[in-house]
Amino acid sequence: MAFENESEETGINESCCAPLKTKGCIICGNELLYSVDNTTKETCSICRQEFETLVKCTNGHYICDSCHSLDILAKVERLLTASSESNPIILTQKVFEVPSLNMHGPEYHSIVPAVLVSAYQNLFRNKDTSKIKEAIKRGKDIKGGSCGFHGVCGAGAGCGIATSIIEAATPMSRDERSAASRVTGYALLEISKYGGPRCCKREAITSIESFMKVTEYFNSLQNAKYTCCFLSTLE
Ligand SMILES: [Zn+2]
Ligand SMILES: [Zn+2]
Repeated sequence: MAFENESEETGINESCCAPLKTKGCIICGNELLYSVDNTTKETCSICRQEFETLVKCTNGHYICDSCHSLDILAKVERLLTASSESNPIILTQKVFEVPSLNMHGPEYHSIVPAVLVSAYQNLFRNKDTSKIKEAIKRGKDIKGGSCGFHGVCGAGAGCGIATSIIEAATPMSRDERSAASRVTGYALLEISKYGGPRCCKREAITSIESFMKVTEYFNSLQNAKYTCCFLSTLE
């Protein structure tokens, strides 16, 4: 059975709250079907590689053993490396639906720059996994709680990381250094309008929308609207 709005790429439903149901399939919550002898070839929803398996859910979801055991940012890295999605909003939605992603946490500091760098690479057809890794690595440098403790939300700073990587900025650069500061500044201003408490998904989407508004990289794309469906587990 196909989902409405099902993504061709990952098979992950782009607009439902499925990952919150944790019984059975870790993507949609549906029952897992175990076959005794009917091995089928399935594509892993994270790394997009094909495997022979006896297990999948009633919606056809399958995650390979290797991806199943990765930590969350390794899963995100694999998904972004395998994805060809060029719209950062749609790509973020896919990342949000990766099984085992916490509702909030410093991992979002890596998700924002890694999504922006990946979407940029997909749009301009210059995929470079080392830069996705670098975005994740730099995001990890920003501590959890930096929004409240330092006045710099790590998701917002992710915009600066993305610009720095895309434009190859260093502390000695001129225009590139300015551009990196500017996108972070705009993202933080947008985030400040919400007050608190923090919501890492909201700040991530707000940062990415701000980035898309104040830079020209993604101007050729059609608008994609993000609809939050994780509210029930907000804490
Ligand atoms: Zn499923
Ligand atoms: Zn996999």
